[in-house]
Amino acid sequence: MKMRLGESPSVSRRASLSPVAFLHKPSIQRRKLHLCYIDESGTPEIPGTTSHYILAALSIPIRRWKECSNDVESIKRIYALESSEIHVAWVLRNYLEQMSVNEFDKLSFDARRKEISILREAALSKLQKSNRKLYIRTKKYYGHTEAYVHLSRDQRRKLILDLANCVSKWKFARLFAECIDKSHFDPVLARKSPDEQALEQIVSRFENYLRNISSVHSELVYGLLIHDNNQAVSKRHTELMKKFHVSGTLWTTVNHIIETPLFVDSQLTSMVQTADLCAYALRRYLENKEEELFDIIFRRADRAGDVAVGVRHFTDDSCQCRICAEHRKPIE
Ligand SMILES: [Zn+2]
Repeated sequence: MKMRLGESPSVSRRASLSPVAFLHKPSIQRRKLHLCYIDESGTPEIPGTTSHYILAALSIPIRRWKECSNDVESIKRIYALESSEIHVAWVLRNYLEQMSVNEFDKLSFDARRKEISILREAALSKLQKSNRKLYIRTKKYYGHTEAYVHLSRDQRRKLILDLANCVSKWKFARLFAECIDKSHFDPVLARKSPDEQALEQIVSRFENYLRNISSVHSELVYGLLIHDNNQAVSKRHTELMKKFHVSGTLWTTVNHIIETPLFVDSQLTSMVQTADLCAYALRRYLENKEEELFDIIFRRADRAGDVAVGVRHFTDDSCQCRICAEHRKPIE
């Protein structure tokens, strides 16, 4: 069946296929498709352990996927992290043990790993006997950071900057994000949780973006959401997306985003890790006024003219941050 601009296959036909089966349909492969990688930073619970909850999404055209994935893999290779997930918050922690290693910077990666491993084993062994609670917490922390201990603090910082600059150079990529200041969010008034509002906003903005480029290119452009496989959110986001397909979001009908989100293992998929980087940069800017990563990442925000329509800070109207300033500009 040939579709005209603005038309979409029926919901029931879409829902009957898995995302992978959908992508293999010849009719989809002939059409334009954008992949939108989603990840979060901060806790959606109120109050939770962070003041902000960020849901960020980075969209790329499918024809650029290989090139983007290769770019990220090349950077990871430089830092001997080929088979590791880049989880920015853990990469940038202060690894105190490194300061205890004599001339750490002069050692090879292997020697550094060995030294840190000895120190950590000794610390765990001590804690196991003296403080069970701290032992469990420390073991968890060691597990999250183990992949990066061969890199000095400067090297880890440079790794994240290299990745951010790489993403920033992808002129074809678009950043969408909802940054919720939870002190100004009332779930009763909103009738939804912070993560439900965030997903609804991302879906609405991505849908608008796809509609606009469909119009510009006079052909139907589809989009697919790809999410880190998090058991806690996968069921809820799948149900929400089904609802959006039937009734639309608060802001728009959904005609260009196909299927429910595809959930992937972020350890194996470098591109989801770029969404993690964007979410982290946005949260650290809003919570800690850290501008370096934010400045680089924010260049990719979806814009209409010079208005950053793709990224919003949900907070008090008086906020003077750059996201608010650039999101509120009147569109001419
Ligand atoms: Zn703001």
